[in-house]
Amino acid sequence: MLTNLTLTDAQTKLRAGAITAVELTQAHLDRIQAVDPQVKAYLTITEERALEAAAQADQRRTEGEDTPLLGIPLAIKDVLMTQGVPTTCGSRILEGFIPPYTGTAVQNLFDAGAIMLGKTNTDEFAMGSSTENSGFFTTHNPWDLDRVPGGSSGGSAAAVAARMALGALGTDTGGSVRQPASFCGVCAIKPSYGRVSRYGLIAFASSLDQIGAFGRTVEDMAVLLGTIAGHDPRDSTSMQEPVPDYTAALTGDIQGLRVGVPKEYFIDGMQPEVEQAVRAAIEQLAALGADIREISLPHTEYALPVYYLVAPSEASANLARFDGVRYGPRESQGAMWPTYKATRGERFGPEVKRRIMLGTYALSAGYYDAYYLKAQKVRTLIKQDFDQAFADVDVIAAPTAPTTAFKIGEKADDPLQMYLSDVFTLSASLAGIVGAVIPCGVDGANLPIGLQLLGAAFDEPTVLRAAHAYQQATDWHTRAPEL
Ligand code: GLN
Repeated sequence: MLTNLTLTDAQTKLRAGAITAVELTQAHLDRIQAVDPQVKAYLTITEERALEAAAQADQRRTEGEDTPLLGIPLAIKDVLMTQGVPTTCGSRILEGFIPPYTGTAVQNLFDAGAIMLGKTNTDEFAMGSSTENSGFFTTHNPWDLDRVPGGSSGGSAAAVAARMALGALGTDTGGSVRQPASFCGVCAIKPSYGRVSRYGLIAFASSLDQIGAFGRTVEDMAVLLGTIAGHDPRDSTSMQEPVPDYTAALTGDIQGLRVGVPKEYFIDGMQPEVEQAVRAAIEQLAALGADIREISLPHTEYALPVYYLVAPSEASANLARFDGVRYGPRESQGAMWPTYKATRGERFGPEVKRRIMLGTYALSAGYYDAYYLKAQKVRTLIKQDFDQAFADVDVIAAPTAPTTAFKIGEKADDPLQMYLSDVFTLSASLAGIVGAVIPCGVDGANLPIGLQLLGAAFDEPTVLRAAHAYQQATDWHTRAPEL
């Protein structure tokens, strides 16, 4: 089946003329038609557009063109703006919104020849860990349809796991590509803050948001990252640093690589099978020649409270623009204030409202110093933990989430329980460093477990090298859910 190919295998076959982009795209559209009614990964399927783009890709290839992703079908999280194609952020406040331009990362994929199959489901404005906060519907985990795929990029992770796309883009503010990758048994990378342009990413928390890539292999995500990374004059936080050749970093050799294992990431209350799988993966790295060292990241316990002050504060400011005046539908009540109130009151979901209220409170006069400013200071301590750690180790190996995928509805009414599912991913976002996830095992119910590998800012090559070496020696990434 063409949908079982990896992205890089598909590239090879397209180049050799063994398959066409139209065949490959049609196979994915057929697969979407067959399994997405159960999985519900896509909010919008752009079938016609995809087939047209595929025909053009085939035509361009016959004319001798060979851009890196020519004819490769991908899925795009619905917080990324796509000209002419609805972009909702999983929110009813943007229902029917059609962006006037395409963001840089997605445009880079298009310029490389990629084909968009559709836009994937997400927790509303990327706030959540399960996609249950989507204003439209919940995505189901392809490994067990009664369970969540994780979130917020749950649609992208589920689409890649269920063979409904060869790769996908997601976004990660506090774990939103890494946690769903872990739950769905696929690979993902959250690059360093500033590595990928955020232009055209509808902002949740601007000092944390980064676009990341999903793939079924490390090689696939390295190819996607290489395409989307780089400086962009339209995003002043994107760094001038040159983009390394990420695939060249995949040497398979981790002899002498110093791997830190943070003791704060193995906590009471985590699912024992998760700890066992992650520890076994670390042993595997040792068997490949890595030098394993226990380390400490002493401020880890503050990551959750710090994140839930910084992220909502920024969200409260970023989401002020959604009032029914410029974007999306309007619940008109005649006068201005009643119209704002009705639009925001009826079209934002409960989690988004909770964050706006938390953030507004944390930023308000009299509380700013105690909450927001204090959180910023502790954020610096968290970053310094990593600076110190990376003086002694090259990468850090840890679990991605304390459990495997939980049941739909299990945590939906308990925000704190939901927030705790990101307890291992928040710190890397606060510190702006690299975080990748690869499958490293399953629990007793055959649900995937992900190994998280963290690296210093802009050291994506080392993280990818370690992840790839692990994958060369194991086959967890080759397993597919039965659907
Ligand atoms: N789950 C976290 C939150 O709800 C992180 C989300 C994200 O990374 N976008 O904020």
